[in-house]
Amino acid sequence: MSVDNQRLMERDLAVLWHPCTQMKDHETLPLIPIRRGEGVWLEDYAGNRYLDAISSWWVNLFGHAHPHINARVKAQIETLEHVILAGFSHEPGVALAERLVAISPPGLDRVFYADNGSAAVEVALKMSFHYWRNSGVEGKHRFITLSNSYHGETLGALAVGDVALYKETYRPLLMEAITVPSPDCYGREAGESCADYSRRMFRHMEWALERHGHEVCAVIVEPLVQCAGAMRMYDPGYLSLLREACDRHGVHLIADEIAVGFGRTGSLFACEQAAITPDFLCLSKGLTGGYLPLSAVLTNNAIYAAFYDDYQNLTAFLHSHSYTGNPLACAAALATLDIFDSEPVLARNRQLAARMAAATAPLQDHPHVAEVRQCGMILAVEMVQRRQGRVPYPWQERRGLTLYRHALTRGALLRPLGSVSYLMPPYVVTEEQIDYLAEVMREGIDQATAE
Ligand SMILES: *Cc1c(COP(=O)(O)O)cnc(C)c1O
Repeated sequence: MSVDNQRLMERDLAVLWHPCTQMKDHETLPLIPIRRGEGVWLEDYAGNRYLDAISSWWVNLFGHAHPHINARVKAQIETLEHVILAGFSHEPGVALAERLVAISPPGLDRVFYADNGSAAVEVALKMSFHYWRNSGVEGKHRFITLSNSYHGETLGALAVGDVALYKETYRPLLMEAITVPSPDCYGREAGESCADYSRRMFRHMEWALERHGHEVCAVIVEPLVQCAGAMRMYDPGYLSLLREACDRHGVHLIADEIAVGFGRTGSLFACEQAAITPDFLCLSKGLTGGYLPLSAVLTNNAIYAAFYDDYQNLTAFLHSHSYTGNPLACAAALATLDIFDSEPVLARNRQLAARMAAATAPLQDHPHVAEVRQCGMILAVEMVQRRQGRVPYPWQERRGLTLYRHALTRGALLRPLGSVSYLMPPYVVTEEQIDYLAEVMREGIDQATAE
């Protein structure tokens, strides 16, 4: 049967329920069925191509259908597709854990696998809570989070997030987190540096730790960039202060690098920019180069030791997911790390990031742009109704959707978060493609902000 865009869309809409989507939108908004991907390009059944400027929801690092990753996954599938990881083991799972320990901040020596980002966050929350319990420290059962943070959609992860659009509906189901104002630099005063602002905002965290430290298991943060919270960014100095304060108050630090890990912020891990080691590091998304669902929680041997005891003492971490440490996903992750080893990825990204800055610089003067901000390979443009006072557009107007539609007509996948358009491309994007994306973004912003 021949497949075309229209027919596949109809079949899809008859049976599928899409993620993060008001399905009624598709009465007017066409779905785009993708037949194949290669490098930065996605191609539909009519041969239209789309430049994947958002790395397919931030997962893709080295392009679609990368020859080396393809080869390693194919080789793995001929050998072992999956095996239970309790009581059994496999080489790709061990090799990946060894390599993650080697490349992550010093002191993270243990790897626990799960199969998606939200699950990794659940694991970190449960491990932290359970550690204090196993250690005989009583009364710790709460978590501190930053306003505007995002840690996933499962109930525990949602509870420690703060993006109202995803959270409000489910609030009656959620444990109550302690939410501290974010150090995100969009809130800084005119003339104030991002570093000064982030440091100034730390006083809220200090107060929360002083007041609640005794009942808090961990502080959870997205290091440097609150991605789902519209790519809001803050200074690494905040993380240094946070590491020190968590130690002083006897509270764990969970770094959720699910989105920012693997080079997005300029360093391999964002925590490196503050020279800190968290107690738990959550990884997913780019971990497999965007191929297969996999996540990992790294922790230290002191925490591991608190669970290590005779079975009868019931201190074990009895958490599991069926596909924990799937060998195919581990093979994709190993292949991804091979590329980091064999190519000057971070150096090349510095050049690409500079081009992203240059290509979008003219937007800084756009009458409806409040800020162009960047952290490594993430560049975001905040559209506003009025620059003076940074008056936002009412969310109901869905200005970003106009930009999204425009970009599609120009062969680019830009998917704004509300009124914030961003570039977060695969690292194989070229400088010319960056220029093109900046041009499409400018046109899209013009259209989206025209009355
Ligand atoms: C995407 C994301 C998650 C959730 O990961 P899923 O695999 O979508 O469940 C958690 N934290 C951050 C920072 C993310 O960006």
